[in-house]
Formats: sequence, C-alpha cells, structure tokens
Amino acid sequence: MPVKIPVMFLEGRKCIYCGAWKPYRLADRRVKCKTCRRYYSLKKLKNDLSILFYFALELSANRTAKELGLSYKTIRNKYMFFREKISKHLEDNFQKLSGELEIDETYFGGKRKGKRGRGAFNKVVVLGILERNGRVYTKVVPNVKAETLMQQN
Ligand SMILES: [Zn+2]
Repeated sequence: MPVKIPVMFLEGRKCIYCGAWKPYRLADRRVKCKTCRRYYSLKKLKNDLSILFYFALELSANRTAKELGLSYKTIRNKYMFFREKISKHLEDNFQKLSGELEIDETYFGGKRKGKRGRGAFNKVVVLGILERNGRVYTKVVPNVKAETLMQQN
C-alpha cells in the first residue's frame, strides 16, 4: 500500500491515539492500549488508510468500493468523514491563512447522469482556498449562495 504510515502503527506496536509503545492483542485480534485504554482493529486501520489513499487520488466512492471490495455505503460514509475532517481543520486554521487568497468552489461526488455543476443533487460543494504560497484549504459548504460563502470568511 503506497500510504506511508510507520510500520509500528500498522503492526500494532505503537498506539495510534496516544503514541505509547504498549498496545497488546485482544482475543478478537484487535489491539488495546495500556496507557489510554482505547482499542481498535488493525484490519480496519489498514482498510481506512487504503480508502484515504483512493480519496486523495480523487477516485469516486463507487470506484474505490470496487477496487477494495467494500460496499459503496462504507466508502461513501468514510469519504464524508474525511471531508468533514478537512472542513474542521480548515475552520480551526482559518486565521493562520495569510497573503493573497484565491477562492473557488468545486463539486465532489460520483459521476451521474443529468444535471451537473450547481443544482446537481448529491453533490458536496467544497470551497477551496488557494494561498499564494501554494497551500490549499478546502471547506465543505451547504450551498453556494453568496451569503454562505461570505460566512466562511
Ligand atoms: Zn494509547
């Protein structure tokens, strides 16, 4: 898998939540951390990272589902989760943006027949902000009316 995640996380030797070197295997093959007491499945972790990889490649949820042999619903939910996290990160870091900004909107979602662009159903509108130094921030917005865009600032 091309995602570069240190192997100690994938092998369950280091906790993904607190970074402690103490997780141990449970009978159901999940990993539990002695320090923060949280547990998780290594299989799920690997799956999630694969989904994230395809998400970053901008593959549609449908295509990713086929590639990984998982259900469309699983992938779609995970994609929404990633978008929300990106949105949250953008919100939290908005003040740190500096310099000249370019704002654009784009539409994420699987290919479908019929209406495209504005007004298309099932599309998530992502507000992208390109900083002149090359960093790009995105924000999921409920719709693209001017007021909505202004509220993001
Ligand atoms: Zn931990």
